[in-house]
Amino acid sequence: MARRKIIAGNWKMNKTPSEAKALVELLAPLVKDADAEVVYCVPAIDIVPVAEAIKGSNVQLGAENISDQDAGAFTGEISADMLLDAGVKYVIIGHSERRQYYKEDDAFLNRKVLKALEKGLTPILCCGETLEQREAGVTLDWIRLQIKSDLQGVTAEQAASMVIAYEPIWAIGTGKTATSDQAEEVCKAIRDTITDIYDSDTAEKIRIQYGGSMKPANCKELLAKPDIDGGLIGGAALKADFAEIVNYNK
Ligand code: PEP
Repeated sequence: MARRKIIAGNWKMNKTPSEAKALVELLAPLVKDADAEVVYCVPAIDIVPVAEAIKGSNVQLGAENISDQDAGAFTGEISADMLLDAGVKYVIIGHSERRQYYKEDDAFLNRKVLKALEKGLTPILCCGETLEQREAGVTLDWIRLQIKSDLQGVTAEQAASMVIAYEPIWAIGTGKTATSDQAEEVCKAIRDTITDIYDSDTAEKIRIQYGGSMKPANCKELLAKPDIDGGLIGGAALKADFAEIVNYNK
């Protein structure tokens, strides 16, 4: 069965609640006929107003972070139950900015993945190499290690429902995009890793995105690759460009 493409915007720390509402209103008519699944991953404070604004539309809601804990004395955190109650379906886990600035390591990210799945949220699990790692030729080994560590204890059925985003760190927010061949090589290696951990059926079902300066000018070529099932979009998700990516096949 063909995998449905999934195009997700990662708004990062942008858009106040009123700005968020305006962006959803701008994009709504532009993305409404998309063949791809469309997801807005928004800051915690925007979740409730965006949930309201996308009601009845073809857009799904995502969060940018989740606690590995259920509830209680964890100041500043947001739980899976809170996200679910607000209408969230997807959650980004392990974005390189969280790995780098907030020192989230693979053991911690693995707990977040398990918590999201246990509660019925779909993780968008990010992985990616630095420029130094790419130049040292260790990209594929590094990515395999991240995937294996972050998926510890995840069942095949759970893995099949997930999204993995390959995001080379050197391409995020830099304007530098991986070539479609570079992106395909790593996305295929991720799928092969899923076959190694589980089986080929699980690998055929899991969706793998590319992220890193994806824009209207390069999305068609990237999304034409057999192992690239969508995009995780940062900068371009904050403007009408996002709709052009969503409608890449029109
Ligand atoms: C991201 O932050 O996930 C991302 C891909 O950002 P950008 O598209 O701006 O490179």
